[in-house]
Amino acid sequence: MSDFVIAPPPVVTVPVVGGGEFPVRRIYCVGRNYADHAREMGHNPDREPPFFFSKPRDALTLEREVAYPPATDDLHHEIELVLAIGKGGASLSPDEALDRVYGSAVGVDLTRRDLQSVAKKAGRPWDMAKGFDASAPIGPITPGSAPDAGEISLKVNGETRQSGDLNQMIWSNAEVISHLSHLVRLEPGDLIFTGTPAGVGPVTRGDKVDGSAFTLSAISFTLI
Ligand code: MN
Repeated sequence: MSDFVIAPPPVVTVPVVGGGEFPVRRIYCVGRNYADHAREMGHNPDREPPFFFSKPRDALTLEREVAYPPATDDLHHEIELVLAIGKGGASLSPDEALDRVYGSAVGVDLTRRDLQSVAKKAGRPWDMAKGFDASAPIGPITPGSAPDAGEISLKVNGETRQSGDLNQMIWSNAEVISHLSHLVRLEPGDLIFTGTPAGVGPVTRGDKVDGSAFTLSAISFTLI
């Protein structure tokens, strides 16, 4: 008999290719990790230290239909490689980092770009631009994978909008994990969205989004 005064929230999980469920603890995201995307957003792509933001875990969705969110007229797609942390650790070196990875998946960092622009100008947090409901569509996790090269791309209604290579990441998977582990202690169940290549742009109701990265399980959903 528990002492919970309300029903505890459900465990959020992502399916694993080959079977099983990966329980999610926290979701971190890297900003501007591809030079051409940094440039298209008006920033200098110099190798400044990576910065991070987060989404609540119930932003994840595995649905084939994703509800267009409220409070925006400019919802953008960002295709990303997502690392799933299987073993925790703090202050990790890049050499120690990859050992912490359970596997990886394809995800989309949906962004209310209009709210983000307002937040940037006002020096306010990005939470409501990035961390809304169903803002993190994700595909199944492939165990044992953390690809550092290979095509990453996204199509809208069959037309290629984003096309890059994972080897274009300013900070590699190992370096991203290392940096983040110096800011927080990573724990099993953490997910890390590793940033997006150039070509981000708006999607609207009725659009079909298809994303892929390397040989990982692809993602496909329609905005409704
Ligand atoms: Mn992103």
